[in-house]
Amino acid sequence: MTRSLFRCLFASLFLIALGAAVSAQVKPGRDPNQPIDEEYTKKIREYTTEPFFNSPLTDYLPASPQVPTPKTVLGDVAGAPGKLPYAEDVYRYMRMLEKASPRVKVYTIGTTEEGREMIAVAVASEQLLARLDENRGRLTKLADPRLINLDDNEADKLVAASFPIYYITGAIHSPETGSPTALMELAYRLTVDDSAYVRAIRDNMVTLITPVVEVDGRNRMVDVYNWHLAHPQENWPPLVYWGHYVAHDNNRDAIGLSLKLTRNVLNVFTTWKAQVLHDLHESVPYLYDNTIGDGPYNAWVDPILTDEWQMIGWNNVSEMTKFGMPGVFAHGNFDTWSPGYLMFIAATHNGISRLYETFGNGGADTVERTLSPAEYGRTWYRQNPPLPKAKWSQRNNNNYQQTALLTTLNYFSNNSKLFLKNFYIKSKRSVEKPKNEGPAAYIFPGDDPRAGSQADLLRTLQAQGCEIHRTTAPFTVSIKTKKKAPAAATGSPTPTPSEPGVAAASPSPSPSPTPKTEIRTFPAGSYIVRMDQPYSRIADALLDYQYWAPNDPQQDVYDDTGWTMGELGNVQVVRVTDVKVLTAPMDRVNGDVRTPGGITGESTGSGSVYLVNHNADNSLVTLRYRLKDVAMETAEEPFEAAGRKFNRGSFIIRKAPIAELRQVAMDLGLQVYAVDAPPVVKTHPARAARIALMHTWQSTQDEGWWRIALDQLGVPYAYISTQDVAKDPELRRKYDVIIFAPVGSSPNSIINGMPMWGNPIPWKTTSLTPNLGKIDSTDDMRPGLGYSGLLNLQKFTQDGGLLIGAMDTADLAVNAGFTPGLAIARQQRLKAIGVVLRSKVVDAASPIAYGYSDTLAIYTLNGPIFNVSNLAGGGGGRQRAASRTSGRGTPDDPDTVQGRPPVEAPEMPTAEVWQALPLTDEQRRNGIRVIPPVMRPRVVFRYADNKDLFVSGLLDGGDEIAQHAMVVDVPSGQGHIVLFSNNPIWRGQTKGSYFLVFNAILNFDNLNAGRKLDEK
Ligand SMILES: [Zn+2]
Repeated sequence: MTRSLFRCLFASLFLIALGAAVSAQVKPGRDPNQPIDEEYTKKIREYTTEPFFNSPLTDYLPASPQVPTPKTVLGDVAGAPGKLPYAEDVYRYMRMLEKASPRVKVYTIGTTEEGREMIAVAVASEQLLARLDENRGRLTKLADPRLINLDDNEADKLVAASFPIYYITGAIHSPETGSPTALMELAYRLTVDDSAYVRAIRDNMVTLITPVVEVDGRNRMVDVYNWHLAHPQENWPPLVYWGHYVAHDNNRDAIGLSLKLTRNVLNVFTTWKAQVLHDLHESVPYLYDNTIGDGPYNAWVDPILTDEWQMIGWNNVSEMTKFGMPGVFAHGNFDTWSPGYLMFIAATHNGISRLYETFGNGGADTVERTLSPAEYGRTWYRQNPPLPKAKWSQRNNNNYQQTALLTTLNYFSNNSKLFLKNFYIKSKRSVEKPKNEGPAAYIFPGDDPRAGSQADLLRTLQAQGCEIHRTTAPFTVSIKTKKKAPAAATGSPTPTPSEPGVAAASPSPSPSPTPKTEIRTFPAGSYIVRMDQPYSRIADALLDYQYWAPNDPQQDVYDDTGWTMGELGNVQVVRVTDVKVLTAPMDRVNGDVRTPGGITGESTGSGSVYLVNHNADNSLVTLRYRLKDVAMETAEEPFEAAGRKFNRGSFIIRKAPIAELRQVAMDLGLQVYAVDAPPVVKTHPARAARIALMHTWQSTQDEGWWRIALDQLGVPYAYISTQDVAKDPELRRKYDVIIFAPVGSSPNSIINGMPMWGNPIPWKTTSLTPNLGKIDSTDDMRPGLGYSGLLNLQKFTQDGGLLIGAMDTADLAVNAGFTPGLAIARQQRLKAIGVVLRSKVVDAASPIAYGYSDTLAIYTLNGPIFNVSNLAGGGGGRQRAASRTSGRGTPDDPDTVQGRPPVEAPEMPTAEVWQALPLTDEQRRNGIRVIPPVMRPRVVFRYADNKDLFVSGLLDGGDEIAQHAMVVDVPSGQGHIVLFSNNPIWRGQTKGSYFLVFNAILNFDNLNAGRKLDEK
């Protein structure tokens, strides 16, 4: 009986059952009638360190008279010691395959930040590849069931006629080096192997392969490895740059979509209508299929998907266990919560996300590897653990990667109809979201004061594949809202989503407020993200709130726990469950969401003045630098002009190059208002300050997120290292602002760098390492900032410069003694793990707060707990409230000394948590340590009160940081040091807090504006 006969006779369900039964009898391994490549096979066995580190699927290579093996390009077999191909070598091989066989097609899928090509390679039988387009037509209908009116019978027909797309991606993490050669050889096997096992894959599905995701980083890693081969006795350079901007975090970009590699892979996944995205990593012995992972699971994915994780993951483990390969397991400690991982693109777009961690040596050396007890211990999910000690080779790694992929592809192929049907059901359930679990839609109100930020967030959703609509008339819906906090709670009431002009309220974990409903009318021009669309899940996951229970059984949190995009974008987003919203008059937005820009009220008079409202939209900083030679002023107070209200910080341009200004306003979607006379308001210059971004030679990732933000917004800067600063006592001559973004290191290691013993470690462009250097270079990566660097930074601020630090670099500035009056308290119980918190403006007149409303959601990861004092060396902790001694009366009564008349004790000074305690007379007497009022730290933002603090993610012990200062401006000589307890620029997700940094930059020489000094 042939398959085609089956197809004619039986319904698809029968086919699945029979197909699985038939294939289960197919023995994995070579077809004895197909010759093998003897020489290649011999080498595979030679480089495999133990027979049990191989399988019947990969311990041979089938021979082909026409199709070249990877050896043609590598000069040896895949996984051979000492062989690490550049991306271009891998591509050359894939294109040789394409040329030699009709079973391979290579596609360019885009370029990297540094202009290198990314590719995808499709491998399947020539019959399937010839039918790619018609198959895509069917998959498109399964992916968007609205096209077939959600007709299940029609879907069944489409499923029966379709074949699935399984997308594999390799080498996203550059020090994880094995996947490119494994994928070269896998492509070869899928093309030529005639065993029934491999034919079942090739004839029933398309395997799509991107062999190198992080192409820029791959080539740098190969350089480093080649340097190591040329200097076998020396320490080699750590891979301080992977991609152009970030390292490991290139696998945390599926929320913000800042990186080209994320967008390219996302586009392939959604345009091919793939069913799986399977990403290859190396860190855990020997093969950890982390797809199933551990709780808490992402709360927005379809439960059908989590069942699929279990099915595929356990089959994978079970098949490899049968081969006798040790150390193959699932579950482990990866929590499946964040949608930021590359593979999660599939999970949030109705596919199946998968990920392997195999065991790599960080290069192609064969070495003895000794594991830790935690790695080789047997546990319930790892009954056949890895060996405590073994010689390990890149070939072993390639065997594991390919064997696992082949078993998984074979299983997927045998169950392809089931998974295609699931793909349809998941897509259909996404479309049916409004009438099931909800919500019905998210509304972006048309009167949001930050139209630019709103458009930016909507464009991110569009890039995620979401459809955006815009209302053409006002409409009214009922909104579920929360009751105000109970009367017992003190402080300002929590804003609710029903208040116009206020972002949606944070869900307070306790006490539980009762939901109620109110009617709200939204203006025409509001944007609607409908949930009755195929990619509703990603929009829901990004726009909703996250709640990670502090008592969750999962105590090892893998990554960020909160990411609510409206909050972090400082954009109003209203979640609506009322399905009536879907009937509001609206049109689909064609093309990118843009705000209209231009000049309004332009007069013909030569004395025209141009006004731009400051609303903390990031395009304002672009405007400033696009017109960097044009003088602009900043209003220190709100004012009215042209019949409109302008916020503090608004730009006033007296002499503008009109045509250029109009063009920039149109490009940026900014409204410029022309008036005949300047408003009467105090101003100071808005500077296009000269910026330096300082990096260490130990880690560049976290500053990479700052760098990409500056680059994307067109803010120019000099890129300098701690070593440059160590050598330059005249920094102020070159720069107005030095940004020291978070490093992820202790102050100690920033100052000391790497140990100076051993050989110098170069990072520079040479013929041996053509891809190193370039972004920045050094003859020796080891030296750090040093004490000379600290002195030079201090001199820079004393000379009038502005130093900006955040999180651990704020810690450095405080601990270096740069900030008298600012201290950091040791954390005792705070757990703020990649969380979104609420902050409040303390000093709205500070230029750093320009354009902001009263509250702002921010991101932090256990940021420093700031305390301010009016005394130098004031220390971190302080007495909050004096308590009475034991004695007569109640706790509030004064003590009474017997036998003498009572005396009234003078009242002790009190202050809010974010304030410095007022000085006592005793402290002022010979007040050597009293900081003059003009030199005292100025608190601009603080964390919200404890009851309002939590927005999204995991927060425990929040009272420890609640109300504490968050953004502090410390005068330093003629200059300033501005320090953040939050990370204002993070993973392209915190665009609402970027302008805190930009405000500091544009006003670096007028940060004292609006300051009210203490009297004494
Ligand atoms: Zn990895």
